[in-house]
Amino acid sequence: MAFTLSGADAIHPVLPSPVPAPYWVGFSPSAAKLIDIPLNAAGLPQDPAWLAVLAGNSLDVGSLQFSHPIATAYSGHQFGVWAGQLGDGRAILLGDIAGQELQLKGAGKTRYSRMGDGRAVLRSSIREFLCSEAMHSLGIPTSRALSVVGSDLAVRREAVETAAICARLAPSFIRIGHFEHYAALQNVERLKELADLLVKDHYPDCQSSNEPYLELFKQISARNAKLVAQWQAVGFCHGVLNSDNISALGLTIDYGPFGFLDHFQIDHICNHSDQGGRYAYHRQPQIMHWNMACLASALIPLLALNHSEEEAQTLLKEALDEFSTIYAQAWQALFRSKLGFSSSEDDDIQLIERLLQAMHDSRVDFTNFFRNLSSVSLSSTIDSIALRNDFIDRPLIDQWFTDYLVRLRAESSDDLQRKHRMNLVNPKYILRNHLAQAAIEQAQKKDFSEVARLLKLLQNPFDEQAQFQAYAIAPPPNLAAIEVSCSS
Ligand code: AMP
Ligand code: MG
Repeated sequence: MAFTLSGADAIHPVLPSPVPAPYWVGFSPSAAKLIDIPLNAAGLPQDPAWLAVLAGNSLDVGSLQFSHPIATAYSGHQFGVWAGQLGDGRAILLGDIAGQELQLKGAGKTRYSRMGDGRAVLRSSIREFLCSEAMHSLGIPTSRALSVVGSDLAVRREAVETAAICARLAPSFIRIGHFEHYAALQNVERLKELADLLVKDHYPDCQSSNEPYLELFKQISARNAKLVAQWQAVGFCHGVLNSDNISALGLTIDYGPFGFLDHFQIDHICNHSDQGGRYAYHRQPQIMHWNMACLASALIPLLALNHSEEEAQTLLKEALDEFSTIYAQAWQALFRSKLGFSSSEDDDIQLIERLLQAMHDSRVDFTNFFRNLSSVSLSSTIDSIALRNDFIDRPLIDQWFTDYLVRLRAESSDDLQRKHRMNLVNPKYILRNHLAQAAIEQAQKKDFSEVARLLKLLQNPFDEQAQFQAYAIAPPPNLAAIEVSCSS
């Protein structure tokens, strides 16, 4: 539910800034269902007034009136360094509908825009739109994207581009950075209000705990540990895991220079601006843990209401330590299911790690390898497994496949059932950068059909879709090298 903290310093009432002549770039019927928007045969809102609302040009649609749009203050650590106050610099929360907050990203300046223009460009808005919906369909907790509305309004980045507004939905957009904000101001009253709000609306079972704030911390941390395990399991790199981009609900939020791995490279860096590789693929779990430490630190004053400062720290430190175990369990369970195991053996971890090392060494396509692994049969001879041809070190991968088949036989795995199970966890289609890029380039020429096509495709990532076979192919090297930076 919407932010209801009492202080004017927390919340800035702000109207979206209108854009000239808005048009639909993308619309998600599936996200629209969440908030019960009636749609026409074209899959767009029946009431044309929605276009103006989602452009930031109006606050009224039918009997709905978004009468109190706001931006909120948060603070945070960017690239590991305390950045002080940030805030919704280009996100405006229109209001609540059907248990979801409706937020417009790129709808103009707010009190927290600092040097920014409050806008987002078409390119980054399309990426956020498609990826939010793709992640949801992959079963990964995420903010949803309802729409992208474009306008010819010019926006200056490295070059002049055009503006777009992405409408996002989430039960709450509260971030770790919101907690850090009040902790930094030493405003325990507001910090408590924020925690109580989150507990009441999103973590109600914490209310019955003797230590509601400690329990709240544990649950937020557990959700984010499981979230990052899910990212690792689909090869998703977020790109900017600053503490202000981490959701208090354990959702994937703030899509920017993200990227799915094409070929597997353990230290892949998707954000061109991240020169040190702080947010590389293999560092994501440890960085999420670090962000949970920021949250723990922000919550000390709340635990210190009932404990000495030292006890508060000890309790939070112990709770923080649970992150690694929860993450490891989630990661292991996910990778076991990716390999099609229905039981759990201690040696599995070694088997998974050997595979990942071999995939890294040979830069094997992450998505296609796991997808095609479901076709291996217990009666396969090693020579007949086509996947071995993707690896440079044949004896090594042959040994791996030999051990894999032994492992499957040991649990009397059934080929057909295993294939079915594996195809429900190993997607065929992901939002590869080159696919998003093709849709963006067409959209920049006012052809939005590829955005719609990708949305449709990615809403069923686990299904074989005969007409879309080409979308599953790994990109050729020239397209794999597309660079994505923080500029958006
Ligand atoms: P991000 O790296 O996108 O998570 O953004 C970090 C901070 O910068 C957040 O407080 C954003 O609201 C703000 N910000 C990013 N881009 C803009 C922009 N074009 N105008 C105003 N604020 C922005
Ligand atoms: Mg952000």
